[in-house]
Amino acid sequence: METIAVIGGGASGMTAAITAAEHHAVVLLERQNRVGRKLLSTGNGRCNLTHLGADETHYHGAPAAFVRPALTAFGPEAARDWFRSLGLLTVAEPDGKVYPYSDQAGSVLDVLRYALRRETIELRTASPATGLSRRGNGFRVETEAGPLDADRVIVACGGAAGGKLGGVTDGYALLEAMGHRRTKLYPSLVQLKTGTAYPRALKGVKATAALTLYKNDTVLAQNRGEVLFTEYGVSGPAVFDLSRRAVTAGAGAVLSLDLLPDLSDEALWDLLTARRQRSPDLPGEELLAGLLQSRLGRMVYKYAGGAAGVPMAGLPDTLLRAVAAACRRFELPVTGDLGLMNAQVTSGCIVTDDFDPETLHSRLCPGLYACGEVLDVDGDCGGYNLQWAWASGRLAGRLL
Ligand SMILES: Cc1cc2nc3c(=O)[nH]c(=O)nc-3n(C[C@H](O)[C@H](O)[C@H](O)COP(=O)(O)OP(=O)(O)OC[C@H]3O[C@@H](n4cnc5c(N)ncnc54)[C@H](O)[C@@H]3O)c2cc1C
Repeated sequence: METIAVIGGGASGMTAAITAAEHHAVVLLERQNRVGRKLLSTGNGRCNLTHLGADETHYHGAPAAFVRPALTAFGPEAARDWFRSLGLLTVAEPDGKVYPYSDQAGSVLDVLRYALRRETIELRTASPATGLSRRGNGFRVETEAGPLDADRVIVACGGAAGGKLGGVTDGYALLEAMGHRRTKLYPSLVQLKTGTAYPRALKGVKATAALTLYKNDTVLAQNRGEVLFTEYGVSGPAVFDLSRRAVTAGAGAVLSLDLLPDLSDEALWDLLTARRQRSPDLPGEELLAGLLQSRLGRMVYKYAGGAAGVPMAGLPDTLLRAVAAACRRFELPVTGDLGLMNAQVTSGCIVTDDFDPETLHSRLCPGLYACGEVLDVDGDCGGYNLQWAWASGRLAGRLL
């Protein structure tokens, strides 16, 4: 029986270890005191473990041809079946996001931890791999407790994102030692810093908006969904999905929010003029009451140049037009992001050209495999990143 060292006990490493242990003796090395720490924080503690629509169009970094084989062999339904075989029930929400039926990320980790309990798996926690080298036809993995010799190695150390939850760059160093290259790293699925004058006052307010990211009149990305205003700028799923593009756009990018995307210009104009006519004594700040969240409505009025305390009867058409325009284009200059420490995923990492997409076997170093976020693959927000972790972990663990 061959000995397989799996380095990293996160989503992809646990999957690879469980898979490899069907035919081999596995030693799973985890740097932290326990496996799957990041997993517990995913999906706000609910773990959005996959998405029914997870195909190659939702991934960035590596070309589609690289992610396709793993996702075809082990797509979202296969992942759900596999988890069911481990004892986890899942439920798909109407938007396609899949969560554990228990609504607890801990349930996902529990079934993985139980599956790791088998004779062919030796789990070593608090055991970081500090070096990797060739030894004959196999490998030597350096650990603080002494060297570990293995016939084959799977590197599953994840990316640098989510530093507070254990995101580190170890995997890049281990693979670079074996001749692999890495790209520049950027945070992805990250909160954006913007001019704070408006977001700070709106802290905690959520809005469903159509988002456009542009720079110098060129549209860089568009999206629709939930935006959360914060003291530093904006967060929320729709912002996360645009963040990848915003981070690489450099200075001068602007995030424009259409706060009433389902309302035509005519309908909006009719509503504003009717409100003015019906409530002439109300202060202008209430113009958008009933259309937008109340604090947001008052802020948009101010953004459009409306003065406080002026009765609606005194608001000229020009101001109503400015308010309507502000609903359509509530613009926030992007000034930065909250960085890898707060990001959910790392964009960039180990260059995938040097791995065979059908096996995730290194083209440079026979017997070496990699899976998960350590590779230059990052997915959209919505369960796609964990889907890549399961699919790539499953493929690497087959040791083809
Ligand atoms: C806050 C947050 C929420 C998220 N929510 C979601 C979500 O709901 N849905 C989704 O699809 N994705 C989500 N993600 C992304 C997802 O968690 C990751 O893409 C996924 O965990 C990557 O799996 P991985 O196995 O490659 O890496 P990880 O899960 O990060 O695991 C890597 C493991 O390797 C260990 N390790 C590192 N270096 C060494 C070493 N030298 N020796 C031994 N062990 C080492 C680490 O300690 C870690 O346990 C979220 C991420 C964050 C940060």
